[in-house]
Amino acid sequence: MNTMTKIMPEHALRTGAEFKASLDDGRQLWVNGKKLDKVTHDPALAAGIDLMASMFDDQFTDEYAEATTVLDKKSGLLTGRSWQVPETKEELLGRRMMIEYTSRKTVGTFGRPPDLGPTLAVGILAHLHLFKDFSSAFPECRPDFIENVERYVEFGRMNSITCAESLTGPQNDRSSPLAQSASLLRVKRAEKDGVYISGAKSVGSVAAQTNEIFFSNLAYPGTPKEAAIWGAVPINSEGIKLVSREMLSNPGADPFDHPLGYKGEEADQLVIFSDVFVPRERIFNLGNEHVSAISGKATLFAHYHVLTRLKVKSEVFVACAKMVTDVLGTGQIPGVRSMMAEIIEYNRTLEAFVLASEVNATVNESGVMCPDVMMITTGRLYAIRNYPHIIHVLQEMCGQGLVMRFGKAAFNNPDIGPHLKELLPGKGVSGMQKEQLMNFIWDLTCSSLAGRVALFENVNASPAPRMRERLVAEFDTDPMVAELKKIAALD
Ligand SMILES: Cc1cc2nc3c(=O)[nH]c(=O)nc-3n(C[C@H](O)[C@H](O)[C@H](O)COP(=O)(O)OP(=O)(O)OC[C@H]3O[C@@H](n4cnc5c(N)ncnc54)[C@H](O)[C@@H]3O)c2cc1C
Repeated sequence: MNTMTKIMPEHALRTGAEFKASLDDGRQLWVNGKKLDKVTHDPALAAGIDLMASMFDDQFTDEYAEATTVLDKKSGLLTGRSWQVPETKEELLGRRMMIEYTSRKTVGTFGRPPDLGPTLAVGILAHLHLFKDFSSAFPECRPDFIENVERYVEFGRMNSITCAESLTGPQNDRSSPLAQSASLLRVKRAEKDGVYISGAKSVGSVAAQTNEIFFSNLAYPGTPKEAAIWGAVPINSEGIKLVSREMLSNPGADPFDHPLGYKGEEADQLVIFSDVFVPRERIFNLGNEHVSAISGKATLFAHYHVLTRLKVKSEVFVACAKMVTDVLGTGQIPGVRSMMAEIIEYNRTLEAFVLASEVNATVNESGVMCPDVMMITTGRLYAIRNYPHIIHVLQEMCGQGLVMRFGKAAFNNPDIGPHLKELLPGKGVSGMQKEQLMNFIWDLTCSSLAGRVALFENVNASPAPRMRERLVAEFDTDPMVAELKKIAALD
């Protein structure tokens, strides 16, 4: 039976075709200095969009329905899990299922699959009790932040909206407050129905391939009130220009040669705002600098996503390492077994952090089941510190095979193909089968795309020094100190 035509419960889901159509909306996008009429006119962006569209279609299949959809308690409709707000541990595990699904689908190469952007709105909704004392610092425009966040999550859920999230400002002279403040998003004009903002957001990953952008500034002490703004607007809003970085994947390549690269990519854009209108109902903070203290809380579900995705990726590393030792016949060499152990240790440790964050999860004042932030931060720190080493170990296990790859055309060439087939077979596999595995690991660890992904892992959700600072600032050491004082009779 065609799974797309089976009888569905009433739903608010989008098909892949509907998702693709929603991106053809006149957005202003430049790639390699050239303006595109449609985002799908760039092959790498188009292939990445196809991959995301397949995730929407998977919602309608028996195999992925549970991981990707959930019954909405309020409307009774089947909705995408991306916008689920967990109230129980079971529902939190439901969100994890979705993260694991999108991470496997992209082999972890998309840090911003369709279920990541919504985590920002969900994260704010989860901490609405902290917003109750905030009101607009602009008398001209007085949005109701709490109502707006609730309405936005409902809108996202009922319309299966995808969104980019961009908090960081463009990289410039970090020693100069003037340089930094020049690129902040700022309210230029406030009116009863909304505000006009100008400025820029850097590295809006996936922005050109989504419906909306969720923005804020990373506030610092003394952030001017006009730069303390959180909100979301459609990516095709008048005044938004998207300037893309160069593409790094291999769209159109033979899947044998580039098993990952042919699937395209999520690209990163500089997002320039010139007098962009933000309607009053799309504003979640206006002028409250102290709301920045909530930033760490608002990103809770985004960071849970990052940790879970890295855990899934570590499963891929284990599988690659095992397959490499099988095809090379190296599995019994003590030094190779020791490398294998390092990769397994990485994977088991990441799984332990994910599980611990869930075991320690608690319901907060807003009634939302929140995973343990300290376990998530420590796990993320461990994951990114060891990521380059684990990649290096996996590469080492592959030996020359990772470089000496010749491509499908060479294997099929009548003059050289027979030589390759005779000279290159592995243990129980043909030379082509061995090369296909190496091609996959090349795309995963060595290609230009892999380079971007490795840099992304290192800084996308704040670099290690900031995470360390967060651990020291937020971890409650009091119970341990009290225990030690008791044990050692210290005052
Ligand atoms: C591929 C990619 C995709 C990304 N996608 C997104 C996205 O979708 N949304 C988003 O909001 N951001 C995104 N980011 C940006 C990311 O959040 C920033 O790179 C990160 O916050 C670091 O800021 P910066 O790059 O401006 O570093 P800079 O401020 O230029 O600093 C450079 C380095 O100096 C050190 N440093 C600077 N300031 C401090 C400090 N206060 N404490 C300790 N160390 C410090 C850090 O090591 C830092 O990496 C992405 C980045 C990359 C590379």
